[in-house]
Amino acid sequence: MRKLSAGLVAVGLVLSLAACGQSANGVGDGAAKGDAKGGLVGIAMPTKSSERWINDGNNMVKDFQAKGYKTDLQYGDNVVENQVSQVENMITKGAKLLVIAAIDGSSLTNVLQKAADAHIPVISYDRLIRGTQNVDYYATFDNFKVGVLQGGYIVDKLGLKDGKGPFNIELFAGSPDDNNATFFFNGAMSVLKPYIDSKKLVVQSGQTDFNQVATLRWDGGVAQSRMDNLLSKAYTTAHVDAVLSPYDGISIGILSSLKGVGYGTAKSLPIVTGQDAELASVKSIIAGEQTETVYKDTRQLSKVAVQMGDALLTGGKPEVNDTTQYNNGVKTIPAQLLQPVSVDKDNYQKVLVDSGQYTADQLK
Ligand code: BGC
Repeated sequence: MRKLSAGLVAVGLVLSLAACGQSANGVGDGAAKGDAKGGLVGIAMPTKSSERWINDGNNMVKDFQAKGYKTDLQYGDNVVENQVSQVENMITKGAKLLVIAAIDGSSLTNVLQKAADAHIPVISYDRLIRGTQNVDYYATFDNFKVGVLQGGYIVDKLGLKDGKGPFNIELFAGSPDDNNATFFFNGAMSVLKPYIDSKKLVVQSGQTDFNQVATLRWDGGVAQSRMDNLLSKAYTTAHVDAVLSPYDGISIGILSSLKGVGYGTAKSLPIVTGQDAELASVKSIIAGEQTETVYKDTRQLSKVAVQMGDALLTGGKPEVNDTTQYNNGVKTIPAQLLQPVSVDKDNYQKVLVDSGQYTADQLK
């Protein structure tokens, strides 16, 4: 019985694909005629443990629905298998488009083959999906620039360009299975490395390779333990002057570790960077703990993804501004890159409050 119904479903699928007259490139001719307009959009986000992804998901639901689409928003709880089965379900439910922020950028090859077989176009959202030809467009920020802003902030604040130093710095990077993490790190190192080479910046732990400083799944607790370790091994007498942190959740972990050994009370806190302008970190910046974050307006990113998706489903042309930087190991994905903005105590009002990202009350 089970076999029979599976067979019927398969036949039904073939017939309905044939009826749509879909082509092999994932975007059906039928779709171009408009039958996908208003269809179901599957939105797969990595985790609710960070505010930004909650905002991304909510923004896309709102923006796709405003254009008449139905949405299925799912969070994978940072577990790769969850995300794979969520995307599989979206395909089964008849999604016309998939928008995916991958948990592990290289683990979606099989499920995206299924999407391609069902002629469903795929937008890689914020994080590049790697190792498959079955991804059509990439909506993201200038990820290298994020790192340049973080590294550049440290250089400016320490006065390295004025010849000050040497200073001690420790480096943290994001998750090794997230393509963005290397872009952020390489961007930051493009600015910091000359000072490390000239010994104006000293990494007392000696840990400067991406693999030594990466933080699996961007976990703040993992970063906190690593910082505890660095402090007890390399800073019993030396003072940490700066910490390159790629993401606010990691920055909060690093700050707890620092405060645990008297930074912020007996000794001055180092410069600590971050990313995403999450509420807790913006408050920490206002309170004089975290020093900087990089704001990425996810309201705009949602609009980019919706524009791309709507164009793909209605025979239009997605807007892109980068066709060279993002090779996923199989092909270069055309991308639309938005600009990140560095935020600290001096400009948070203008960048975050005046823009409507937060109300002044939320930051109290
Ligand atoms: C995103 C960052 C975020 C990080 C952790 C990255 O892929 O680009 O904005 O801080 O994931 O969630």
